[in-house]
Amino acid sequence: MHPHLKYLIELQAVDLRLIEIRERMSRFPKRLAELEGRVNAARLQITTAKDALTGSLKERKTYEMDVEQWKERAKKYRNQSGEVKTNEAYKALQHEIQNAENEVAKAEDRLLDRMVAGEEYERQLKAAEATVKQVEAAANVERQKIQAEYNATQKELTAAEAVRAGAVAAVPEDLVDHYERIAKRHGGISLAEIRGEGCGQCGVHIRPHVIQQLQRPENEEFFHCETCTRILYYADHGAAPASAAVSSAGVPAAPPHEN
Ligand SMILES: [Zn+2]
Repeated sequence: MHPHLKYLIELQAVDLRLIEIRERMSRFPKRLAELEGRVNAARLQITTAKDALTGSLKERKTYEMDVEQWKERAKKYRNQSGEVKTNEAYKALQHEIQNAENEVAKAEDRLLDRMVAGEEYERQLKAAEATVKQVEAAANVERQKIQAEYNATQKELTAAEAVRAGAVAAVPEDLVDHYERIAKRHGGISLAEIRGEGCGQCGVHIRPHVIQQLQRPENEEFFHCETCTRILYYADHGAAPASAAVSSAGVPAAPPHEN
């Protein structure tokens, strides 16, 4: 195996991890926004209930004034009825008094309706306030959980970046450039393991001569898949798994520099 290839394999592993970690990092703002959205929606219920209650109280005032006005009118007509001279005028006043008393009764009914509705709106307001308290308490727990997850993910990111820096330092710059150019074109994956007789990434058949070369421990040549252009490597899964050693060891031991 080419001496730099094991660091490229490590670079590939850590880059895939970085893609996954950054993807998780990118989801945090949306998760927090959803959380705030839930709290705001609950708070809106309070505003709605308060508005309904205020409207109901205003209507109540209006109907209270209606009751008073019609009562005043009935009283006025009753006072006048002592002074009328003709039977017809008396009858007309009696009619007005009856009418005013009917209006008093109607206004009192409407007032009662509003008082009942007002109690209902007060109940709704109390219920909305209780709901908001619950939603806020749950949101606080959730926010702390998200924050803890964020901190842990940030740590993972820092650690993975350190591993990447170590792997990059172990390989000549132009090889890193070459690796990154291929990665950019192929969704971050620039290495392809030989699987069976084919490229482990695109599946195309690889010439047996190339596979034989890659299997030789003393091989120092790079081979690329002729179809997807990825750098090919052969991992002997029967022997001690090199990739497992790499992923658990983290930062590689300082390699000899070849500059
Ligand atoms: Zn391929």
